[in-house]
Amino acid sequence: MLSERQLASKMFYWDRGVFLCAARLGLDVTRRQRLGFISHAHADHMATHELALATPATAALYQHRRGAARRTQALPYGQPVELGPLRLTTYPAGHCLGSAMLLADDGRQTLLYTGDFKLGPSATSETAELPQADILIMESTFGKPKYRLPPRAEVVEELIALVQQVLRSEQTPVVHAYALGKAQEVTKLLTGAGIAVVQHPVTYAVSQVYEACGMPVGDVKQFSGAVPSGHAVVTLPRGMRGYRLAGITAPVSIAVTGWAMDSSTKYRQQVDHALPLSDHADYEQLLQTVEQVGAQSIYCTHGPREFVEDLRVRGFQAFPMTGSYQTRLF
Ligand SMILES: [Zn+2]
Repeated sequence: MLSERQLASKMFYWDRGVFLCAARLGLDVTRRQRLGFISHAHADHMATHELALATPATAALYQHRRGAARRTQALPYGQPVELGPLRLTTYPAGHCLGSAMLLADDGRQTLLYTGDFKLGPSATSETAELPQADILIMESTFGKPKYRLPPRAEVVEELIALVQQVLRSEQTPVVHAYALGKAQEVTKLLTGAGIAVVQHPVTYAVSQVYEACGMPVGDVKQFSGAVPSGHAVVTLPRGMRGYRLAGITAPVSIAVTGWAMDSSTKYRQQVDHALPLSDHADYEQLLQTVEQVGAQSIYCTHGPREFVEDLRVRGFQAFPMTGSYQTRLF
């Protein structure tokens, strides 16, 4: 256990997750905390905390997943909140509805924690904003040069063209996507192109929360045993419990994931098509983030060790941040 004196000297520490010293505030820590910041409502970024700090949309999605009675304190984008000696401000992260980066200022230094993020436009999440900070803790999932994704508009066009072609051939397009985030984005892209969508019940329930938060996804129904003609299906990723929907005739499966840059993805995920539509920053966006935030030190989570080396070669002070560390002050 770190002493108050030790904590007073630094900005953050690692204890199987990132904590801000000044308030012992856990950031996306996956075990229950008295006080926990949740950057977005994906399972690998949250636990059922006594009090969760989150944007209003993330709070709604967290309560959808963890129970309506869960206590939350809202951190709307761009509105600073004082927590002890800390000033906390959230910024859109562009990953899914409500996803947020957290800027913490302890009066001496500023720290930006990105959570999962993506730069540029998205059909169903707020466009990311990057404030400057002294310390940057960033996810780096796609931190290898081979994960330079093609322009998003091209991939979206390809997806719509593929779905239309499958429908014309009287087969059923079945898109596999995470129930929170990617599924709503794909649905909105399809419905925006005039293609009605039937969603897996788990996905549909999340879409209802999106609607309630003021982010409609268009002409969508819940799957209930059959797919009306002319409709595309959006279901869970293959292999996830309950992904298979019985009674779909002539399915053509499509995965949408940044991992589609690996040619093996199609075979690994056992789908007919894999398209590189991502809700994570690609390699170029990761580098752009580092440049724009202008931090003196950069800590990389969720990514390959090569990305840290890559940043060092480019002259940045970069460090890996991994689960294998013991409790440690930074
Ligand atoms: Zn995520």
